[in-house]
This record gives sequence, C-alpha cells and structure tokens, in this order.
Amino acid sequence: GEALAVSARVAPLGSRLVLLLVEDLTEARRIEAVRRDFVANVSHELKTPVGALSLLSEAVMDASDDPEAVQRFAGRMQIEATRLTNLVQELIDLSRVQNDDPLEDAEPVRVDELVAEAMDRCRHQAGTKQITIAAGGTADLHVWGNRGQLAAALGNLVENAVNYSPARTRVGIAARRVAAPGGDMIELAVTDQGIGISDKDKERIFERFYRVDPARSRATGGTGLGLAIVKHVVASHGGEVTVWSAEGQGSTFTLRLPEAGAARDRAQQHPDLD
Ligand code: ADP
Repeated sequence: GEALAVSARVAPLGSRLVLLLVEDLTEARRIEAVRRDFVANVSHELKTPVGALSLLSEAVMDASDDPEAVQRFAGRMQIEATRLTNLVQELIDLSRVQNDDPLEDAEPVRVDELVAEAMDRCRHQAGTKQITIAAGGTADLHVWGNRGQLAAALGNLVENAVNYSPARTRVGIAARRVAAPGGDMIELAVTDQGIGISDKDKERIFERFYRVDPARSRATGGTGLGLAIVKHVVASHGGEVTVWSAEGQGSTFTLRLPEAGAARDRAQQHPDLD
C-alpha cells in the first residue's frame, strides 16, 4: 500500500522529468534530422509540388468540358510549377554556396548594384502588393566578395521582406560603412513593416527548410531555404547576418560584410592567408 502511495507521488514528478527529457531529445534530434537527412528532406520537398502537379493535371483532364475549372486548375499548376522552379534554383544556389570557395573570384562589388539587382528580383511581387522599396546610403560603397552570391543573399532578404508584408507597406534598404577591429565593414539593413517573427522562431529561421507558417510560405512560392543560403553566404565571406523583429510590427535583417578596401588591405597584410 505504501509503495503504491509513494510511486503515485513520485510518478507525476517522474513523468514530467521524462517529458522534459523527451522534449529536449526530440528538439535536438529534430535539428539533427534537418542537418543530416538533407536528401530525405529534399525529396520530400520535391514530392509535394510534383504530387500536386500530377493530381491537378488529372483534374484538368477530367474537367475538359468545364473551361472555368480548367482555368482554375491551370492557375494552381502554375503556382506549383513556380514552387518547383524556386526549389530547384535554391538547391542549386545552396550547393554552390556550400561547395565552392566564394572568395576564389572575389572582387570589389558596388553596393548600389547589389541593391538594384535585389530590387529587380522582386519588382513584380512588390508591384502587385503596392509595396514601395526605397534604398539609401548606398553611393560609393563597395563590399568584397563573390558578386553572384552576394546578390543572392541580399535578394533573398528583400524578397522575404516583400513576401511577409501586407499590401501598401514600405521596405527600406539602408547601407552604411562601420568601423570594426579587423577593418571597415559594410552594413546592409533590410527593414519591413510586415508580420514579424517571434523570439522562438528567430532561432530557427536560418535552418534549411524551416518555415514559421509552411502554408503561408508555400503560397508565396517559399522553400525555407532562402535564409539558410543567406547565412552560408555571409559566413563564407567573413560577415554575419542578424535579425531584429517585433511581431505585428516588422523585421530588420542586417548583413555585415567586409568593405572592399579593408578586405584588400587585410589580404596584403597577411599574404600567406590567401
Ligand atoms: P521561405 O522560402 O519560406 O521564405 P526563408 O528561409 O527565406 O524561407 O525564411 C524562413 C522563414 O522565416 C519564412 O518561412 C518566414 O516564416 C520567416 N521569415 C523570413 N523573413 C521574414 C520577414 N521579413 N518577416 C517575417 N517572417 C520572415
């Protein structure tokens, strides 16, 4: 009788501990899974739009005498095809970013050119949502690195700012030169007035395939790879990316990248590190 009473008292505590432990393990294993089972992840992510396309094409065939339905299904096919294209493009970006040494063909890259390219990339989407993109402070600034990768990084940030903002809001891109111990850096801040990101999600958004709201991300053709690519690019350039955000108010993503002259000076001071 006493043993039962004791175990009844201990059990709730024990199960809570076990639960905490299990949660901890699950979390750790989830993160591990995202890293290690990349291939499994990719095939799953590819399966979704491919499956949808196959169902939709069947639906189109069945609805051949209903032009309105055909129109509707075709529209959805277009969305899935875009998603598939984005996914493949980002996978290519990601593998390039991970495998190549981006600094092999590093050069001074004009910040205003990077900004113009990033704005171009989402001109259409911004136009439909009547979102104004404004840039400032970019004149005469140069970062040091791989032009294509840097454009992909900034482009992803501006694309996200537009995607996760309501219509008729503003997106700002601000550039400035800041002094740092190892030489000047260029700071590029992308600010939106969008939905924002919770503290809990802030820690996860840079993981591959992590999306706060998969349904919403999917609707805009999102893949969950964009920020993983941004993180890899800045890391391989000796920079960093940080995020400030308040839910319901907006977010600011800031890139910090080596300034071109400072990076060249550093390379000259340490030629053997080249
Ligand atoms: P996605 O392709 O889904 O946009 P990302 O890796 O670029 O993937 O971003 C990961 C997740 O971070 C997004 O799904 C979204 O939930 C969140 N996120 C990224 N940028 C923003 C932003 N500017 N405002 C709000 N949420 C964002």
